[in-house]
Amino acid sequence: MPRAERVFKTQAIILRRHEYGEADRILTLLTPDHGKLRAIAKGARKLTSRMSGHLELYSRVALLIARGSDLHVVSQAEQLEAFLPLRDDLLRGAYAHYLAELTDRLSEDEETHSPFFALLNAGLGWLCEPEADLALAARYFELRLLRASGFEPSLFECAVGQEALSARDQFFSAAEGGVICPEHARGRSAQPLSLTALKVLRHMARHEYEAVRPLRLTAALHAELERILSGYLQHLLEQRLKSAEFIRELRLRLL
Ligand SMILES: [Zn+2]
Repeated sequence: MPRAERVFKTQAIILRRHEYGEADRILTLLTPDHGKLRAIAKGARKLTSRMSGHLELYSRVALLIARGSDLHVVSQAEQLEAFLPLRDDLLRGAYAHYLAELTDRLSEDEETHSPFFALLNAGLGWLCEPEADLALAARYFELRLLRASGFEPSLFECAVGQEALSARDQFFSAAEGGVICPEHARGRSAQPLSLTALKVLRHMARHEYEAVRPLRLTAALHAELERILSGYLQHLLEQRLKSAEFIRELRLRLL
C-alpha cells in the first residue's frame, strides 16, 4: 500500500486552540481535503516564533504539516485571511464561536473531502460584513450546514404524509425531519411554525446568501427561526452523540 506523504501543505481554519506545555499550542483545524485535524504548533506562544500571530482563532491559514502517529506537527504557518472583526467585536466573536463549534461537532476526522470548509469560510466572512445581521447569517449557515450533512429539513412537503404543504401556518418536528401539516401534527411532538417563518426558510433554502442578506426580519421572526433551526440541530447532535456513545460501548463489549 502506498504510504501517505510525511509532509503536506493545506489550507485550514482554526476551530479551536489551547495552550500546551510552556510555549506550545494544540490546534483543531478544519481543512478542505483532510477533514478535521489536530496538530501541535511547537513554540507558537514565544514572541520570537515565526508562527506567532499567524495562528489566530477562526483565521484561515496556509500550513505545512508533518504527519505524526498521534498528533500532527505544524512546521510552517502563514495567515491568509484574518477575519479581524471577529476578534475586535465581542458579539461577532461569539457568533464565530457558534459557527466553528457546530462545524466541529458535525465534522469527521481526516475525511478526504470536507463539505464544510468552504461553507465555514463563507460564513465567517458574512459575520465580518459591516452591516451584517448576525442572526440571519447564522440561520442561513445552519440551513446550509444541515444540507451539507444530509439533514436538510423538509420544507415543501409534509415530512409525515409527503403531501404538498398549503399556504397556512404549519408545525415543525425535529424527530420527523421537517415541516409537518396540522393534521399530521396531531398526537406528535411538534412546534408551531408560522407561514411567514416557513416562507423565510424556503427563501433561504432556494437562494444564495446574496439574495438572503437584504431580508429585514422582526425580532419575533428571528426568535422563531432560531428556536426551530437551533432546536433541530440540537436534536440531531444529541442523536449523533448517542450513536457515537453506542458504538463506543459496543466496541468495549466486543473486546
Ligand atoms: Zn401532512
